[in-house]
Amino acid sequence: MKLIVVSSILTLFRTADVAYGSGIIRGSGSVLIGSDADDAAMERKLEVSNLFADNSRNNGQGVQPKRDITLTMSASQAEFAAAEPVAISITVKNNDSATSARILNWINPCNGAGDTTLSTPVDMSFFDVKTSGGQRALYLGALIKRKEPTDKDYKTLKAGEQISCTINLDKYFQFTAPSSEDEYEISYAVTSMQLSDPFKMQGNSAVESLATDALNLKINARVNNPSRSLRDQYMRGLQTGSTTFNKCTTAQQGLLREARKQASAESTHAVSNITSISLWGNTTNCARHNKWFDPYDTNRLSELKPGYEAVSARLNDASILFDCGCKQNYYAYVYPSKPYRIYLCNVFWGAPMFGTDSKMGTLIHEMSHFTVAAGTDDYAYGQTACQSLAASNPQNAVNNADSHEYFAENTPKLNCTPY
Ligand SMILES: [Zn+2]
Repeated sequence: MKLIVVSSILTLFRTADVAYGSGIIRGSGSVLIGSDADDAAMERKLEVSNLFADNSRNNGQGVQPKRDITLTMSASQAEFAAAEPVAISITVKNNDSATSARILNWINPCNGAGDTTLSTPVDMSFFDVKTSGGQRALYLGALIKRKEPTDKDYKTLKAGEQISCTINLDKYFQFTAPSSEDEYEISYAVTSMQLSDPFKMQGNSAVESLATDALNLKINARVNNPSRSLRDQYMRGLQTGSTTFNKCTTAQQGLLREARKQASAESTHAVSNITSISLWGNTTNCARHNKWFDPYDTNRLSELKPGYEAVSARLNDASILFDCGCKQNYYAYVYPSKPYRIYLCNVFWGAPMFGTDSKMGTLIHEMSHFTVAAGTDDYAYGQTACQSLAASNPQNAVNNADSHEYFAENTPKLNCTPY
């Protein structure tokens, strides 16, 4: 039997050759591929390699490895035929024998693994899946806008406790690379301020990271290649700016039309601010920008600007389908790979039209997630955490959906003028 095991323990690596830009920090990929006779020796070597040693390379940005949890991924085979589920075994373990440890349910792969009915959206975006040539596999799962986490949103593992599950990654990622390029590198990578605790201003505000080395798997292109239909969806989405509904009451339809109109207008204002900043070459007089994206940086602005322009343009011209069938206690969610369907959930209907965490702002948040718009992620939820993210890790802030939302909502109001 061939066995491939990657054990990442804490895994905060910050190597010179790894771009920090994604906010995802990875090791160089120690992978065990060997005969049974070799396994034990190689596994030992794997588990001790670079983990703690590499932590010394964490040289700033306020990112700390999450030390109490060990997350292990493994596959029972090195190659998956087109018809085989890409089954990955996950173990999440509290490696402290005396103290309990907590992990945010939302980024715990085993939290969502049990739901095979798809009656609720499942977020598996913390897996990083790409070919060895660097092509990222299209993510098919959901990204969810939630309220800030509270203690209820954490799984507590007792001292030494572990939980295990199996994830079929082909449900969440599109494996369609041709056979010449179907060697994939699959890792788990999360950087968040809310990994172990709800963010508290007076508490521990360190950004934490939990990431594994890469599993190296050969995955044959799936038979039911959905890329064609996705491409068709993109085309349809880009043609006209219609607004359609699924399972929405008449009252909800009215609210959504208004929210889209306002989101379109406010995102246009946001873009004009960003355009001004790029002309000025500084943000000295744009407190609005600095609060959510931190001081001026040419490289970051060159990411923020086209992304925000796309958000604004698609709110104007895309065919958006609003789906009101969700009864979860979220604001909303989308599948970033499936523009432009936006699912609205219970919290959304109680939100105001304008201001912080409003209906208008939620649509900007969700639109920013679509891969064909800004392709943002959810590094931090809530104003307090996002403000802190801007200061501690502005690179993640320009890729964070709530930061886009708060910049547009601009509540309380901050100026952005050259004078
Ligand atoms: Zn989101």
